[in-house]
Amino acid sequence: MKKIYAEILAIGDELLYGQTLDTNSHWISGELDKAGIKVIRRTTVGDIEQEILTAFAEAETRADIILITGGLGPTSDDLTKPCLCKYFNCGLEINQEALTEITEFFKSRGRELTELNRQQAALPTACEKITNTLGTAPGMWFNKRDKVFMSMPGVPHEMKKMMTDSVIPKLLEKFKTPIIQHQIIKTVGIGESFLADKISSWEKALPGHLKLAYLPSLGEVKLRLTGMGSSQEEIKHEIAEWIEKLKPLAGEYIYGYGEESLESVIGNLLREQKLTIAVAESCTGGYLSHLITSVPGSSDYFLGSMIPYAYEIKMRQLGVKPETLEKYGAVSEPTIIEMANIVRAKFNTNIGVATSGIAGPGGATPEKPVGTVWIAYSDKHQTVTRKLQLSKDRMINIRMASMAVLNLIRLSLPSKS
Ligand code: AMP
Ligand code: MG
Repeated sequence: MKKIYAEILAIGDELLYGQTLDTNSHWISGELDKAGIKVIRRTTVGDIEQEILTAFAEAETRADIILITGGLGPTSDDLTKPCLCKYFNCGLEINQEALTEITEFFKSRGRELTELNRQQAALPTACEKITNTLGTAPGMWFNKRDKVFMSMPGVPHEMKKMMTDSVIPKLLEKFKTPIIQHQIIKTVGIGESFLADKISSWEKALPGHLKLAYLPSLGEVKLRLTGMGSSQEEIKHEIAEWIEKLKPLAGEYIYGYGEESLESVIGNLLREQKLTIAVAESCTGGYLSHLITSVPGSSDYFLGSMIPYAYEIKMRQLGVKPETLEKYGAVSEPTIIEMANIVRAKFNTNIGVATSGIAGPGGATPEKPVGTVWIAYSDKHQTVTRKLQLSKDRMINIRMASMAVLNLIRLSLPSKS
């Protein structure tokens, strides 16, 4: 099946000045992807006639569909409409239907129609009007041989409604698009290159119509498997089969799929097993508890936490033995073991977890550089510890240490051990 290519053109000086973030292109890309249309380029230009005309011409050489947003306001700084007239070699004429819609729009809000607003009903004669149900600037659809130019307002909610209600259905009517299906496989506890090594035989065996992407972010690597074809059911089935083949190679690192987060996966495991958890976090300063409690319904399993940040609080409030702290220091295996065990006992939970480390930039010693973090998991059968050597960046260390504890919980829960 022939691929259908699209380009997105965002118009507006404010986008180039850095005053407005181009969220329109980002959103449109996602919608086109879902519709099986491949976005090959996104361009941003200012409100300058020559730039706009050049961008139209260049996009036409590459794409079947050119989606334009912005530059449709009633004021003279917005130039998209006159540029479209020039490009399609036509004049502007009041579109009666558009005028009625704009008049109604103002009437329903008890406002008077000004001449400037009336002019918004003047459309290039070469276009088909697309109704804007949330604003006054109509959309404009141009057919040029087998290609389409579609101009939409810049205001995000107006553009989104127009895309969803009119533009996507019209594009799908005109172009025969393949079905694109994505599945995200989420892994934790392994770096991108190590994961790539582990699964290289699987990756090499993937058929040509299934594409793999590595999407690393802090503390995790997502794998995105994209399939293309004519039947959604077939692609879904095929992707599921390839995921089954991946499991023997990377199963222990896979924690979830799609929108699942590590904290929601752990929440489900705890709830299913009717287990409760308490946290003693030092270097993560509450971030681990924040992740756990950001999941709706976490009160089913999360009983509470302590942040024994200072030495004295570790001793007096939590109850770590002074000898342990004096002999080994706060960032040590004996201390972290006590922290996890004690918090489990104090909160009377099935599981206790703890963090203690040097988040940085200060506090390092030659034996314990910035990024040294101890984490522990404790239940009635076992206490498991890990020493992490993270980065020099404080926020990265806090985030990665918290992710590492969540992963330790996932790997250590009774039914998993
Ligand atoms: P315009 O159609 O040029 O009058 O744009 C109207 C308003 O929409 C602008 O003032 C911006 O706030 C917003 N806007 C325009 N283009 C974009 C874009 N690409 N992404 C997000 N907002 C935009
Ligand atoms: Mg503008």
